[in-house]
Amino acid sequence: LYVDRQLADNAPLVLDGAAANYLGNVLRLGVGAQLKLFDDRTGEWLAEIAEPGKKRLSLRVVRRLRPREPVPDLWLLFAPIKRGRIDWLVEKATELGVARLVPVLTGRTIVDRVNIDRLRAHAIEAAEQCERTALPELADPAKLDALLRNWPADRTLFFADERGGTPLAEAAVPGPAAILIGPEGGFTDAERAAVGAVPAARPISLGPRILRADTAALAAIALWMAKAGD
Ligand code: SAM
Repeated sequence: LYVDRQLADNAPLVLDGAAANYLGNVLRLGVGAQLKLFDDRTGEWLAEIAEPGKKRLSLRVVRRLRPREPVPDLWLLFAPIKRGRIDWLVEKATELGVARLVPVLTGRTIVDRVNIDRLRAHAIEAAEQCERTALPELADPAKLDALLRNWPADRTLFFADERGGTPLAEAAVPGPAAILIGPEGGFTDAERAAVGAVPAARPISLGPRILRADTAALAAIALWMAKAGD
């Protein structure tokens, strides 16, 4: 279970809200019941219930089980897609281990409002599900041209281009990286030119078939992780 505060040896911890409801009402944990917690800062801890409750319960942190895992330095820049599919994308990208998710607004992006809190909740649930000790950062939506204008020179920008590029399995090398996936309608010519002008940008291919944006994102993350994601 994720808790949004720093955990430490023997620290008392009081939970309320959704966490208390889940532990007290759904799991009905009583005194002495043990559970694993992580805080996205120090790692995963064993804790036990000191005072049970349905709205509020207190726990004692027993000991640290694992330090926070190292997170491969990969960002995913993606044009927002429809609700169910963006939730799925965030869930799977979290499982695959991206460090940062950045919704990017492009000329052909059809969804221009993104509920970051809802996406963060999906990321937390996915991390809990697959026992990760780190959460991806969820950035506020940003316009493509603004991102490109300030692009850090040391972060390779793999621009997923269905018209062709170096296969990502060949292009991926260790080091800070980002994958840029376009919207369902693709990038405009002006956007292609703007991406191409960024010195750190590399066009990459994910094969001869045109993939949906969410499929392309996950295929690219998986390829990069297999090659450079230690
Ligand atoms: N504009 C295209 C069209 O309508 O023919 C399709 C865009 S595709 C559905 C959405 C995004 O997925 C693209 O902008 C690109 O970033 C990525 N993508 C899809 N297939 C790809 C491939 N084979 N190689 C690299 N990127 C791909």
